[in-house]
Amino acid sequence: MSNVGGPHRLVGVLALQGAFVAHERALAIAGANTRQVRQPADLEGLDGLVMPGGESTTMSRLLTTSGLYDEIKALLSDGLPVFGTCAGMILLASEVLDGRPDQRSFGAIDVSVRRNGYGRQVDSFEADIDVVDFDRTFHAVFIRAPKVVRVGPNVEVLAELDGVPVVARQGHVMVASFHPELTGDARLHARFLQEV
Ligand code: GLN
Repeated sequence: MSNVGGPHRLVGVLALQGAFVAHERALAIAGANTRQVRQPADLEGLDGLVMPGGESTTMSRLLTTSGLYDEIKALLSDGLPVFGTCAGMILLASEVLDGRPDQRSFGAIDVSVRRNGYGRQVDSFEADIDVVDFDRTFHAVFIRAPKVVRVGPNVEVLAELDGVPVVARQGHVMVASFHPELTGDARLHARFLQEV
């Protein structure tokens, strides 16, 4: 794929836990340079940040203990473009249902999400979804995915599955409830890089 959104952007990938390596690969395909983010100094000079899937309760705890939480919160208010997928979407949401009481989220996009909202019997599933402006469907892998149960008026829904939003954005914040990094299709990462 060509350098959609501009070459040589430096995008951080939160690497505390979860599916960060595959995100780096997808970002590279989409034309960005990447850096793993584990401590506040790793945020220096980033043009964007990806929050991967994994376990949002664990990531929430590690964000706090690493000192990253407050730094990222400040960068989000300054308008740093961020793409959160699965657990990363939970971390960016304004409201988390069925979370742990001590779980924190950045409230960077006005959506309510229910953790593991697609049910326990169907832990994982895959679906081909239509994304706004994509000329063919995107193969989406859902793994204990959060379900969007409310979107605020300023949120743009970019894809739905059975009437439920699965990709959305508000300003510089984009979220997906599935794992877009697993299939070698970097179009959503390229879409994110248009904001970066
Ligand atoms: N269920 C996980 C959580 O609550 C998210 C799963 C995922 O990121 N694949 O954080």
